[in-house]
Amino acid sequence: MSNYHIKHLEEYFQVYRKSVREPENFWGEVAEEHFVWRKKWKNVLSWDFTKPEIKWFEGAKLNITENCIDRHLRTRGDKTAIIWEPNDPGEKALHITYNNLHERVCKFANVLKSKGIKKGDRVCIYLPMIPELAISVLACARIGAIHSVVFAGFSSTALATRINDADCKMVITADGSFRGSKTIDLKGIVDEALEKCSSITSVLVAKRIKAAINMKEGRDEWLQPLLDNASPQCEPEIVDAEDPLFILYTSGSTGKPKGMVHTTGGYMVYTAYTFKNIFQYRENDVYWCTADIGWITGHSYIVYGPLANGATTVMFEGVPSYPDFGRFWEIVDKHKVNQFYTAPTAIRALAKKSLDFLTTYNLSSLKVLGSVGEPINEEAWHWYNDNVGKGNCPIVDTWWQTETGGIMISPIPYATPTIPTYATLPLPGIQPALMDEEGNEVKGNLVDGRLCIKFPWPSIARTIWGNHERYKDTYFSAYKNMYFTGDGALRDAVGYYRITGRVDDVVIVSGHNLGTAPIESAINEHPAVAESAIVGFPHDVKGNALYGFVTLKEVGETRDRDNVRNEINQQITEHIGPIAKLDKIQFVNGLPKTRSGKIMRRILRKIASNDLSNLGDTSTLLNPDVVEEIINGKLD
Ligand code: ATP
Ligand code: MG
Repeated sequence: MSNYHIKHLEEYFQVYRKSVREPENFWGEVAEEHFVWRKKWKNVLSWDFTKPEIKWFEGAKLNITENCIDRHLRTRGDKTAIIWEPNDPGEKALHITYNNLHERVCKFANVLKSKGIKKGDRVCIYLPMIPELAISVLACARIGAIHSVVFAGFSSTALATRINDADCKMVITADGSFRGSKTIDLKGIVDEALEKCSSITSVLVAKRIKAAINMKEGRDEWLQPLLDNASPQCEPEIVDAEDPLFILYTSGSTGKPKGMVHTTGGYMVYTAYTFKNIFQYRENDVYWCTADIGWITGHSYIVYGPLANGATTVMFEGVPSYPDFGRFWEIVDKHKVNQFYTAPTAIRALAKKSLDFLTTYNLSSLKVLGSVGEPINEEAWHWYNDNVGKGNCPIVDTWWQTETGGIMISPIPYATPTIPTYATLPLPGIQPALMDEEGNEVKGNLVDGRLCIKFPWPSIARTIWGNHERYKDTYFSAYKNMYFTGDGALRDAVGYYRITGRVDDVVIVSGHNLGTAPIESAINEHPAVAESAIVGFPHDVKGNALYGFVTLKEVGETRDRDNVRNEINQQITEHIGPIAKLDKIQFVNGLPKTRSGKIMRRILRKIASNDLSNLGDTSTLLNPDVVEEIINGKLD
């Protein structure tokens, strides 16, 4: 039996049982057999959720880039590590081999050193999806500097807040970025942000769009000439397993983002382990995750997890709609992608369009499909399964968070039978618990509750940067000795988990707790519906009633809107029950979303409750314009 690579269901159960009965032996063996350590650990694990304090592989020494790059050079030096696909399909894709990656990371690391960056310093990376992004992340890790990647779609205010929160010394950026048919003046945004940041001593600028930009004397420098003069050799800085690797801010769906701190050893072991199993990666596969490296999905499953396995990982600079809605499928066809990992928001956006965008491409290379970021509704699941996977590719609905570092609940392809909307079973080492409102664990099957995790796993975030109290309050105070996820879930008759939405979004109607995901999934079953979001609003009799915001598909179905309203409520009655019927249904052109594409129900809740004075900052949204539109079209 191999702990590292699970191939069938019986093996999953055996491995899972071992991981729960003897977690230290289990993770100790995985770590020992599959990674390079400069010094072995004293303890596999020590932990105390009341403080909270969690340490994995304490006393061990390593460098994560040695595991992600150097150790592959002997056998995989000429293998492609990163396929970079540019925004414009007319520009040539790049194939960066492991040898080449090694050289570029070493040079970059030497540049960082020459600018005075040392182990433990924070470096803010504000770059588009160009090779320099992955390379600068790895260069920081090479010298033990802590990277803080900020998604390059964020505003100057959001960037300044994150730079100041982490007290960064340097910013790495570009002269601009291409995004579909647009260009974005990244350097201008950085200049504006830095007016509010005193900790930054240097700014390195990659050339991408060849825009004329301002360079501040003594602070800003072009990256390329520095790289050209740097040595291609850089010995890795050997760090402790518990030294911080990076800070990454949560998406901010529920409020002020939190700077989660991930450390080195446990994060490496867990992301590599889950990558191998969840995507069933085989030596010559081409794997593509469409996320941006600015999110945790990109950190763990574009950069660290794949590279630690010596994989070929695709990095895409552009957007799914440019030059048209067939772009994803064109890339799958072009690079013969075997594993494809995206978000429900992208699937729903593509499903809204004509199938002709997809059918022109050959997708037969695909073996495994993944979903992450939000609950995937049933309709989107089937569209993905039927049209993209042609019924032949297992779909892994992966539930996890910035805080968890790696995927927590997910099917393992060819082992776990999948069911739409179910994230299914916990991965080895993950011990979920459902809790009721009184703080008791709800045992057995066919139950629901608040999703907690009762035992540490290697990639759990160790703290919130500069605010350990907030870390304790947010995750470890709601339930004794448990990590609280903030999400609700149900466990079905066979023990499968279904995420029902964020606990903050649950609506109590006539005393019943209603999660958002199952109701939205029922609404989206309607053939004319593209996407929906439900929220509660005060109601005299029921306490709360449900308000649905619904976008319609662009193709096919043209029906009378009142009929659609009635049919939606019928669907809800059939799938869930009359208790969940919507009192109001408003058709809208778009739903407010975070920059990572998640529906922001808290804004809709305020609109539905007429609490317009209190919308908060909507400028951080992906599509701030829809808010005004929704308010204007609001039903009274
Ligand atoms: P913030 O914590 O700042 O409000 P966020 O929770 O959106 O932002 P992330 O860490 O990016 O930040 O997202 C994690 C959340 O995304 C989970 O807690 C869950 O609500 C949702 N999520 C992720 N994957 C899935 C999935 N497969 N099924 C259901 N929900 C998911
Ligand atoms: Mg969250």
